[in-house]
Amino acid sequence: MRTIHERVMADARREGNPCIRCHSTGSTCGRHYNGQRQHAYGKGRGIKGHWIGIADLCKRCDQDFQEGSVEKNNYIGKDQYSEEFQHWCIMSNIRRDERGFFDGPS
Ligand SMILES: [Zn+2]
Repeated sequence: MRTIHERVMADARREGNPCIRCHSTGSTCGRHYNGQRQHAYGKGRGIKGHWIGIADLCKRCDQDFQEGSVEKNNYIGKDQYSEEFQHWCIMSNIRRDERGFFDGPS
């Protein structure tokens, strides 16, 4: 049986799932929150953070949230970067919830 983390990752990359941020389709995957609070959410060396910190982002939007990206550096600061990424994680999971994803058997 798959873990909820594996199920969320599979759900994020299912065909036709639009990017939560820009609504494009074709490259959406589950992207793990990597902001300043990532360690509070279980991120460790070689360990992904909690599934609640997964955002369904396309490849292009994911680049905005990669370590060292120009876009990341353009945020006003770590707080704004973190809040923005957390927002898309929450929105992704609200969308999952509204589709009934969490209602079914695991
Ligand atoms: Zn996008």
